[in-house]
Amino acid sequence: MKFEQGNLPDALYAKIVKDEGENPYQETDLRSFRTTQLIGPPLPVTLKEEYGDEITLPATSRTSMFFGTVLHKMCEGEETDLKKYELPLSRVFTVDDVDYQLNGTVDELELDGNEVILTDNKTCLLRNLGYPKPEYDLQLNIYKHLASRQLDQHSVYKLRIRYFIKDWTSGSLQKELDKYPDDFAVWLEGNKVAKKSCKTMEEAALFIPTLSAKLQARASIVPRDRSAKRAEIAKSIPDSPIHIVDVPVMTPEDIEAFIKGRIKFHVENPYKTCEVSERWSNDVRCRHFCDVVSVCPYADQQGYNNVI
Ligand code: SF4
Repeated sequence: MKFEQGNLPDALYAKIVKDEGENPYQETDLRSFRTTQLIGPPLPVTLKEEYGDEITLPATSRTSMFFGTVLHKMCEGEETDLKKYELPLSRVFTVDDVDYQLNGTVDELELDGNEVILTDNKTCLLRNLGYPKPEYDLQLNIYKHLASRQLDQHSVYKLRIRYFIKDWTSGSLQKELDKYPDDFAVWLEGNKVAKKSCKTMEEAALFIPTLSAKLQARASIVPRDRSAKRAEIAKSIPDSPIHIVDVPVMTPEDIEAFIKGRIKFHVENPYKTCEVSERWSNDVRCRHFCDVVSVCPYADQQGYNNVI
């Protein structure tokens, strides 16, 4: 994957290129999957493997990832023997006598007695709190399964999503902020998180740690409750940009079966077209969120090529 710098400052562009080339996992000869790829459809994985070197994207398509990166940094404290951040995890699974490596990076792992707490940081709109996407539940359960090999003396797992409210990404505010692709730090404004203009990584680095303790202190626990009306949930939660939602823990047998089933599905159906219409109305994913749209036969047939 290559990137065009466009009007991005050099520091940001260099970071985007560096992040794309980094592999936090140990290189092996095995075919490997990232957890998010495995949960998702096979076609983008196949097309990236086959045509990745031929695809050039505007570097601005990666700037939104900086918000995620900055938000993650805000929640990171000091690493200790009992608390790790951005921890790479790996495990090999054998399917039909072939070994595959599954990788993932858990945002936060904390050991407390015989309890392990795994936390993944996500963003969401206020009205969607309490309605975590099923794939988020699967992602955390896979991380648990990958981690459990190294942590076999720990028997109790708590899985949770730490949500950042991102209502600021909608409407006119987003349009206004989009004019500034070099903005990549964030700040607090009421119960929302907003962007702050920083011209260099150094400027952002000075700013970010000052928010961490403040944000953590304001986090609230929000129950998962699909029966409650979304508007009621939104009204009842405390004024905070951060909320925590618990994730149900699957049995090791169930998650192992899920992982192996997905590996088999990816291997046997590499060109299966994504279920874009069911999950994303009007193929929004193809048109706005897919890195491989320029080489995808389905997108070509639909006339979506070169949209991003
Ligand atoms: S363009 Fe659409 S169908 Fe093609 S890989 Fe991307 S999301 Fe899937």
